Amino acid sequence: MEAKKVALVMVDISGYTHFIRAQKMSAIHAEEIIFDLLEAVIDRAEHPLILNKLEGDAVFLYAEIGDADPVSVARDVAKQAQGFFDAFYSCAQTLTKERAECNCNACQRVHDLRLKILLHVGEAVFRTIRQFNELAGEDIITVHRLLKNSIPTREYILMTEPFYELVGRLPNMAYSSRVEQYEDLGALIVHVFNPQAPELRKNLIPPITFNLF
Ligand SMILES: [Zn+2]
Repeated sequence: MEAKKVALVMVDISGYTHFIRAQKMSAIHAEEIIFDLLEAVIDRAEHPLILNKLEGDAVFLYAEIGDADPVSVARDVAKQAQGFFDAFYSCAQTLTKERAECNCNACQRVHDLRLKILLHVGEAVFRTIRQFNELAGEDIITVHRLLKNSIPTREYILMTEPFYELVGRLPNMAYSSRVEQYEDLGALIVHVFNPQAPELRKNLIPPITFNLF
């Protein structure tokens, strides 16, 4: 086992949770749609980002910093994260068209799905089991805790303070900072970037909905 410097990326899809109990929601279709969207994001990820694992509606990736310049690795990761929004929305657009004939809520509500991305930099303890790396440590816990936060918007890139110190502000995104409070981790300053969503979603027209509720 060894501790390595890493950039950590958590990509999370939100939007179906409040439909779970709704009638006419096809659980299989919901799973297929989430899977396709996550796959589109994963396909967009490239070196130095490595897919670590799928975690429900989220995907966890990391980049080893090693002897490289942390600033250039973090910048690369942040740039890729911005590209994930394009991958996500073009896939959502395709799914909306492909599934227009199905009137279950999962297929009719693809346009309600949103992407959240968390970026952190820190240390991870690597355990290798066969070809799989398992990452552990306080920074891994931090990035998971941050999935639950008080940010009012559903679509953003969140950077922790250490990550923000490396890359600063992202171009073409609305910026704000805030403090999130966690029982075990205390107060964490986070930096939030909102994409120019109307531009991204301009072709994602909600289909005619048969299941109004
Ligand atoms: Zn369906």
